[in-house]
Amino acid sequence: MNYNESLSFDKEICFHLAEDRERHLGSVVPPIYQNNVFLYKTHESISQAENDLAKHYIYSRGANPTVEIAERKLAALERGEACRCFSSGMAAISSILLSSLKSGDHVLCVSNIYFSTIDFLKYMDKFGVEHSIIYSTSPDDIEKEIRANTRVIYIESPTDMNFRIIDLRAVAKLAKAMNIRTIIDNSWATPLYQKPLTMGMDVVVHSASKYLGGHSDLLGGAVIASKEIIDQVFSKELIMMGAVMGPHEASLLIRGLRTLPFRMKEHQENALKIASFLESHPAVEKVNYPGLPSHPDYQLSKEQMTGYTGLMSFQLKQGTYEAVRDVINKMKLFKIGVSWGSFESLIWSPNLGNNAVELKKQHINPGLIRIAVGLEDAEDLIGDLDYALN
Ligand SMILES: *Cc1c(COP(=O)(O)O)cnc(C)c1O
Repeated sequence: MNYNESLSFDKEICFHLAEDRERHLGSVVPPIYQNNVFLYKTHESISQAENDLAKHYIYSRGANPTVEIAERKLAALERGEACRCFSSGMAAISSILLSSLKSGDHVLCVSNIYFSTIDFLKYMDKFGVEHSIIYSTSPDDIEKEIRANTRVIYIESPTDMNFRIIDLRAVAKLAKAMNIRTIIDNSWATPLYQKPLTMGMDVVVHSASKYLGGHSDLLGGAVIASKEIIDQVFSKELIMMGAVMGPHEASLLIRGLRTLPFRMKEHQENALKIASFLESHPAVEKVNYPGLPSHPDYQLSKEQMTGYTGLMSFQLKQGTYEAVRDVINKMKLFKIGVSWGSFESLIWSPNLGNNAVELKKQHINPGLIRIAVGLEDAEDLIGDLDYALN
C-alpha cells in the first residue's frame, strides 16, 4: 500500500469504521454508553457471558461499547489485530510491561524514554525486574546490551527529548531471533505517520492524551498488538488493576480521531517552517527535529515514517539555566506547560535549575528547550520565537 492509499484508508477508519450506526438508531456519532452495568434476561445467559469477558458487555471495568469503537479504530490505524484502551498513557504502559515481565527479567530501554516510563521501571526493581538504558541508537550496539534474561526491548522513536530515530526493522529482527518482545511508544508519530507493527514490532503503546485526542481535554492510553497479547493484558492487568478508559473519554477520543489526518498535516507544515527558522537562528546551537534534512537520521526517518509531527527541541548556544529561563519567559504565543499534541503551542525545558547531574546522565543538553508546535499561524509562532531569542 502506498502512502496515499494508506491515508485514504486511515481517513475511512477515522470517519466510519466500527460505528455500527444501524445498531444505534442511525446516530451519525456513537452514543455514550455511560452505564457501568449491563443486564441479562436469565442466569444462564449471564453465566455464559462471564465465561468470556472480552466478548460480552457485563460491567464497564471490562468491555464497553463506546470504548470498543475507539479500540477498533486504533487497532485498524496501527494495522494491528486488537487494541485495548486505558485511563492514561501510563496505565497502558505499566499494564503491558507488567503483562510482559516476571521477577528475574530484564528490560532494555533504547535511548531517551518518557520519564514516567523509566520511573515505573525503577519501581519494578522491588519486584525483581531490572532494566538498563543504552544511549546509542545503533542496532549493533543495542544487540550487545542484550542479556540472557532480557525479555523486553522498549523503544520510543523518535526518542524522547533528543528526537533520534531507531531502526525499527533492525531491532525487531534481532529481538525476534532471541524471542524478546519489542514494545514501542508511538505517541509522537501517531499511527498515521508510523505503523511499527508492520515493521515487526510486537506491541505499540500510545498516550491518547496527546495527538490522538488532540484537544487537551482527555487523558487516555492504548495498547495495540496481536489478539493473544491483548487478550492477556485485558483479562489480567486491565480488569484486575481497573485502569479502564471511561466511555466519555472514549467519545472525546473518537471525536479527536475525526480530525487527526487534518491536524497532523497542519502540525507538520507548521513544524517544518519553525524547525528551519530555528536552524538558521544565530542563538540556536542545534535543532532536534527528524524532518530536517540536516538531522543525522533523516534518511532512516524517510524509510520508516510517512510524516513528521509538531514536537521538537532545540539547544541554545548559551546552555545555561538562566538563558533557558529567559527565552521561555519571553514567549507569548507559546504557552508554558508540559504535555503536547494539542491545538495550542507549548514550550518547556527539562532544565529545572537543580538537575544538571541528572540531565548529563540522560544525555540531555542543559540548553535544551522543547516546543510543541500547535495549529496557530506559523508566521506568528516564528515571530514569537524570534522575539524571545533576540
Ligand atoms: C505523555 C506521554 C506518556 C504518558 O501518557 P499519559 O496519558 O500522560 O499517562 C507516555 N509516553 C509519551 C511519549 C508521552 O509523551
